[in-house]
Amino acid sequence: MVSEAKLQIRIIPVTPLQQNCSLIWNDETKNAALVDPGGDAGRLIEALAHFGLTLKRMWLTHGHLDHAGAAAELRERTGVAIEGPHRDDQFWLDRIEDDAKRYGIADLRNVTPDRYFEDGEELEFEGVRFGVSHTPGHTPGHVVIHNAALKIAFVGDVLFAGSIGRTDFPRGDHATLINSITSKLWPLGDDTTFVPGHGPTSTFGRERQSNPFVADRLTGYAGAPLEAADVGEQRTTKRWT
Ligand SMILES: [Zn+2]
Ligand SMILES: [Zn+2]
Repeated sequence: MVSEAKLQIRIIPVTPLQQNCSLIWNDETKNAALVDPGGDAGRLIEALAHFGLTLKRMWLTHGHLDHAGAAAELRERTGVAIEGPHRDDQFWLDRIEDDAKRYGIADLRNVTPDRYFEDGEELEFEGVRFGVSHTPGHTPGHVVIHNAALKIAFVGDVLFAGSIGRTDFPRGDHATLINSITSKLWPLGDDTTFVPGHGPTSTFGRERQSNPFVADRLTGYAGAPLEAADVGEQRTTKRWT
């Protein structure tokens, strides 16, 4: 067993979509996990070598190309199994190669995970437990991975600093996404730092105050009096990726 304090984390933006792949490792054993190895497999291998790490886990939050596109190549090169996302994202994992052509990104591959995640399951890495929550809305099989002691959550494209994920994809749904955020993310605590799929990190507390889509005054969370949304602010903060 190691304490949570022994875990190191670095964010490595991958693909032209600058997706935040997270590299997590135990400084003592040098064992590593990758969350959302979406592309640039060579760079991720280089990062592992730079820190002297051995890859032991690969976890996917959802099936989009920029989050999952390097997983198949890394499994081939390291023998590490691919875990997640929830099975409802398999249709996205099956079209990564087609989507990559459309985006003009080379070397991404379709993925068949070694196993899917279920809502509420616990993952173990280096003696540290991570929780998994099913958070549909951006994609139907999206999950977030969180650790209560480290107070950190890897939320993929569910929530961003100052915005939320797109819901205009097949099987995306705005109300479902908002419900995932308020029912699965907010209970993890205001002081939880989250790593979103794109852009800077933030905390759930900050987003509950100021996010133009999911501030408490817009969702009514925890009995907050409802106010009208600022449509102009929403229009200029929604990401396309
Ligand atoms: Zn996505
Ligand atoms: Zn993304």
